[in-house]
Amino acid sequence: MSEFKTVGVVGLGNMGRGMALSLARAGFDVLGYDASEQARDTSAAEGVRVAQSLQALGGCDVVVLSLPTTNVVSAVLEGAQGLAAAAKPGLLIIDTTSGDPQATRALAQRLNDAGLRFIDAPVSGGAAGARKGTLTMFIGGSAKDVQDADAVLAALGDKRFHIGEVGAGDIAKIVNNLLVASHLLTASEAFRMANAAGVATEQLIEAINAGSGRSGVTLYNYPSRILNNGFDSGFTVQLMRKDVNLAMSLQQSLGLKFPVSGEVGDIWNASAQALQDKDDFNRIVTFEKE
Ligand code: NAD
Repeated sequence: MSEFKTVGVVGLGNMGRGMALSLARAGFDVLGYDASEQARDTSAAEGVRVAQSLQALGGCDVVVLSLPTTNVVSAVLEGAQGLAAAAKPGLLIIDTTSGDPQATRALAQRLNDAGLRFIDAPVSGGAAGARKGTLTMFIGGSAKDVQDADAVLAALGDKRFHIGEVGAGDIAKIVNNLLVASHLLTASEAFRMANAAGVATEQLIEAINAGSGRSGVTLYNYPSRILNNGFDSGFTVQLMRKDVNLAMSLQQSLGLKFPVSGEVGDIWNASAQALQDKDDFNRIVTFEKE
């Protein structure tokens, strides 16, 4: 067991709620908070101990964040009402938000200057992985902070990769999701081609998954979310668009211009008219850009 006993979780949505339950199962004393009353109530009904204010988490040894964007992370931590002002000295913050690496680095520096520690540890594996504690984690932070956080990280993910310094976790997550966003588009085109040529996706998916053209999208998304018409992954089009746009911004800031990535970004952004923000991200396979 770690030297840390109390773990706060801010953001009790699809991911954070499951993370809070996994941390409690691992023996931590967990206190959750969400700005939405509905999220607080749902979490409490599932057994999460829930605080009614952010400041109530100030006494925690570690705080795990699972929030929509880095801007929200900054709003939660900084400012007069932010958690940093109420925190114990040396508080270790583990940000699992899929974030903006440049903004994350700047934020981590400001928090370090205020005596707090910060790790970015975005995840892959969905709401089910958060609930089971079997997430893949892309970790950025100093060797000491990552080592100190190990027991908390181990409660969340069974595949943990320390990629590099702060911000490196965000970069790895952007790479992961740019690949998923691209694979969904290429797989849907390839299968539409087969369908038009008289072969249904169901007829060939197993063969493709035994061949070298397979990807996470063909192995998991097609069989378990798309072909069964489930579209119930718990990950929204809005969040995937955010990730694709993080990739676009990163490329732009580095002076990179890639034709395939650019088209992937254009298609995901063009889908905003046809697909609602809250739709399952796998619905992109039903979208055809004019
Ligand atoms: P979500 O929208 O279900 O949950 C986010 C929660 O944050 C909401 O409950 C919201 O009320 C809360 N929140 C927003 N602003 C807040 C504030 N100022 N203070 C406190 N709470 C606030 O999103 P999610 O699907 O749980 O995703 C969380 C993060 O994990 C995102 O960055 C997402 O990109 C990433 N992610 C999600 C998945 C997935 O499958 N859902 C997978 C990997 C990574």
